[in-house]
Amino acid sequence: MAVEVVTPREVPLGGPRAMTVRRTLPQKARSLIGAWCFVDHYGPDDVADTGGMLVPPHPHTGLQTVTWLFTGEVEHSDSGGAHAVVRPGAVNLMTAGRGVAHSEVSTPGTTTLHGVQLWVALPTATRDAPRMFEHHEPPAVHVQGATLRVFLGALAGSVSPVRTHTPLLGAEAVLPPGGRLELDVEPAYEHGLLVDSGAVALCGTPLVRGELGYTGVGARRLVVEDLDGEGARLLLLGGTPFGEEIVMWWNFVARSHDEVVEMREEWNARGDRFGEVEGYVGEPAWLPAPELPHVRLRPRGNAPNAVIC
Ligand code: MN
Repeated sequence: MAVEVVTPREVPLGGPRAMTVRRTLPQKARSLIGAWCFVDHYGPDDVADTGGMLVPPHPHTGLQTVTWLFTGEVEHSDSGGAHAVVRPGAVNLMTAGRGVAHSEVSTPGTTTLHGVQLWVALPTATRDAPRMFEHHEPPAVHVQGATLRVFLGALAGSVSPVRTHTPLLGAEAVLPPGGRLELDVEPAYEHGLLVDSGAVALCGTPLVRGELGYTGVGARRLVVEDLDGEGARLLLLGGTPFGEEIVMWWNFVARSHDEVVEMREEWNARGDRFGEVEGYVGEPAWLPAPELPHVRLRPRGNAPNAVIC
């Protein structure tokens, strides 16, 4: 019956600004939830203190980035030619495929920055897919007093039109004070519930802000209850177990150490694998990849976990 509680670690993003994120995936004990392989949660940050987000052009491979904001605006530019302002309530999904580069900068009008940056690993069959950028604003649906926005997959009758490469779920849920939500979920999926604000119980296990509660395959219904009478904002992620071992390093998702070496060299040599980001004016003009560790990178596996909620 137990829900696994994944606690975040604080990670400074580096660069000229002082933004720190709370990272719940990957962790030693858990690398993936479905194809979700990276969960960074940040804010609410006063941009006057942190300087906001200023991430120069950097590469990605073998993944999709999923940006979901609660407050603030971020300008996205990528080497596929997409320029977009990411706003609360709209999902922005960038498919890296074989290689993409992008920059992310909070807009001058942003005073508070608050959101998540998520990555989805692409399966071998489509991991060299062409670069792509998609934007979708899901409708708010009201269920048992809560408000859901389903940006990927399907939940409570709301279906996102965004195509995914593996079966996935991504949704925001806002629980009113004293709220209780019983959600029928896909039993073939494993799930992670990230607490953005408030305190809740997931199938009886308490979770506080920043924590992620994990349930393995087999659960048919997730029960979420407000614990402190103040309501909560949550993010529910899910998917079928990924089933492939991945090697993750820096901004790359690969299958082996040697692939990572190749990707790193191609990026630092400014190879055409990643393309050019137009219109970025900050310094440095691009982020070089750091040195690789002196040991060979090893694939990440997951502790098997089938928990019935
Ligand atoms: Mn990125």
